Amino acid sequence: MSELRELYQSVIMDHNKQPRNFGSPANANHHAKGNNPLCGDQLSVHVFLEDGVVKDVGFEGQGCAISKASASLMTEAVKGRTQEEAEKIFEAFHELVTSDPREEPVIGDLGKLAVFGGVREFPMRVKCATLCWHTLRSALVDGGVVSTE
Ligand code: ZN
Repeated sequence: MSELRELYQSVIMDHNKQPRNFGSPANANHHAKGNNPLCGDQLSVHVFLEDGVVKDVGFEGQGCAISKASASLMTEAVKGRTQEEAEKIFEAFHELVTSDPREEPVIGDLGKLAVFGGVREFPMRVKCATLCWHTLRSALVDGGVVSTE
């Protein structure tokens, strides 16, 4: 378990310092804003969706290291995926971060996102880690503003 914790910390630090896909793709056609008042995280997610495929995705905003790293990793995970695939990744991710920390984490096809299994030990941080995903879903569906409260 301490191995996972170390990996978790190094991945979060890396993506917090150098967020991937930061900013809005020039041709983005779906947008949403997300708010996590509990922590103060504020994110915007911008998607270029074409033929049901996330052709490009970026995010902007400010927040804690976990919210930023999660958004950064999310953009890498969903770029090039269909809307349904992105939804499935979100479901698996949500399942992972809200599962019982005493049980073996279910990683499935989460790839790098699996490091967020470390969030399970910090329930206050689950909303930080999932904020970008709720915002992405909102952007893909109808846009607008989502709040974790
Ligand atoms: Zn946060």
